[in-house]
Amino acid sequence: MQIWQYEPKPLQNDEIEVKVTHNGLCHTDIHMRDNDWGVSKFPLVAGHEVVGIVTEVGADVTNLKRGDRVGLGWIRNSCRNCYHCLQGEENICKQGFTGLIVGNHGGFADKVRSKADFAYKIPDALDSASVAPLLCAGITVYTPLRTYIKYPGMKVGIVGIGGLGHLAIMFARAMGAEVTVLSSHVDKADEAKQFGAHHFYQWGSDADQEVAGSLDLLLSTSSAELDWDLAFSLLANNGILCFLGIPVSSINVPLIPLIFGQKSVVGSVVGGRRYMQEMLDFAAINQIKPQIETMPLSRVNEAMDLVLAGKARYRIVLVS
Ligand SMILES: [Zn+2]
Ligand SMILES: [Zn+2]
Repeated sequence: MQIWQYEPKPLQNDEIEVKVTHNGLCHTDIHMRDNDWGVSKFPLVAGHEVVGIVTEVGADVTNLKRGDRVGLGWIRNSCRNCYHCLQGEENICKQGFTGLIVGNHGGFADKVRSKADFAYKIPDALDSASVAPLLCAGITVYTPLRTYIKYPGMKVGIVGIGGLGHLAIMFARAMGAEVTVLSSHVDKADEAKQFGAHHFYQWGSDADQEVAGSLDLLLSTSSAELDWDLAFSLLANNGILCFLGIPVSSINVPLIPLIFGQKSVVGSVVGGRRYMQEMLDFAAINQIKPQIETMPLSRVNEAMDLVLAGKARYRIVLVS
C-alpha cells in the first residue's frame, strides 16, 4: 500500500462524508489488496471497518448530521426492494449488495463518502477503536448467533480463536448460551475462558468423546481445514454446523447423521442493516469489546504482515 491522492466525485444528495479516525484491519482487506477473488479495482483504497465523524451531509440526508460519530461496514448499498432487503437482510440482497471497497474507495483515507442510510450511529458507550472491528468481524458472528440461538443455555461451539472467534465467544456468552471453544492451540484455553467460554477443548483430542452429540450450534470461524466428519459428530440432533470462513471450497457431508439426526449445514455472511444497529446496541449494553492493538494507519503494510503471519491479537485497529 502506498499514499495516493484522488478527487472524490461530487457528494450525492443521499451521501455523507466521514472524516476517518479508525479502521479495523480485516483479512478481507488483504484479499482485496492481493486481488484473491478477482474483483479488486486498482488503485484500491481498502478499509471496511471504518469509524469517523460526519463532516458533510447531502441535501436529502435526514438520519445523520455533521459531528455524528458513525461506522461503515462491508456493505455500501443494496437494491433496497427485494424481499431480503425489505427484511433488513441486505447481506443476501437478491441483486447482490455493493461492497464498500469493491469498485469504491474505503476507509484507509482521510475521508470517505458513502450512503447515509448504510452508516450506523455509534452508541456513546463504545469507544471508536473498540467498535471498529465490530463493523465486519462483529456482525459476521452476531448474525448467525442471533439467528440460531433460540433459548438460554443452548449449547454453542466455536471453532477457532481469532478475530472472529474471540468475538463469537463474547456475543454467544452475552446471549445466554453455554459456550464451548474448540481450538488446536491448547495455550489459548485461559484466554478463551477470559473471553467468556464455559469450556475449552483441544480440537481433535478429548473433544470427540466429551463433546460428541451435544452442540446445538457449531460455528466454524477457522481459516484452516479441519476434520469435518469430527465437526459433524459433535452436533446434537437438530444441530447446525455454520461456516463463516472459507477454509476449503467444498466439504463432504455425511448423509446418515444428517438425515437421522436432522442436522443442518449452513453458511452466513456479514449482516444486514437491522442486525448491524442491533449488534452495536447489544455490544454497548453488554460492553462487548474486541481485544485490539492499535497502530497508526501509516504502518498499514506492517499491520498486514502481522495479520498474514497470524500474529494479530486479535484485531489490529489503524488510527488515522
Ligand atoms: Zn471484513
Ligand atoms: Zn435487495
